[in-house]
Amino acid sequence: MEDNCIFCKIARGDIPSATLYEDEDLRVILDLGPASKGHALVIPKEHAANLFELSDETAQKVIVVAKKVAAKLKEGLCADGLNLVQNNGAAAGQTVDHFHMHLIPRYENDTVNVGWTPGELSDTDKAEILKLFQ
Ligand code: AMP
Ligand code: ZN
Repeated sequence: MEDNCIFCKIARGDIPSATLYEDEDLRVILDLGPASKGHALVIPKEHAANLFELSDETAQKVIVVAKKVAAKLKEGLCADGLNLVQNNGAAAGQTVDHFHMHLIPRYENDTVNVGWTPGELSDTDKAEILKLFQ
């Protein structure tokens, strides 16, 4: 637990939240600034600033709970789709430095923007990246 981390406080129940799900390791809450109806956040109780600090054990728990809550949101709110979004670092849009995964229900013709303009995979980039994994 980090003293000045708002998501540590929310995850552990020190700050009240609209909680959809809670277990020993995680809390799922409604986002206060929702991108769409039902926008929720999966927040581990253990502090990790981002994906790179997250334990494998917690990572596994996050995706299983995200899957369950996503299904319930999609069905209950009659959503047409749902994005899982997870930002790491300010450059990637992260504003709260405690790992969290967004569940963003999507509706036909909504105006949510989680897209990008497709680029082109260059031969040099491809070679450089493939080399990292050899
Ligand atoms: P990110 O930009 O990925 O770090 O996402 C942070 C998210 O946390 C944003 O969608 C905020 O709306 C949301 N948020 C920040 N503070 C709170 C809070 N106290 N309760 C619920 N959601 C919050
Ligand atoms: Zn924290």
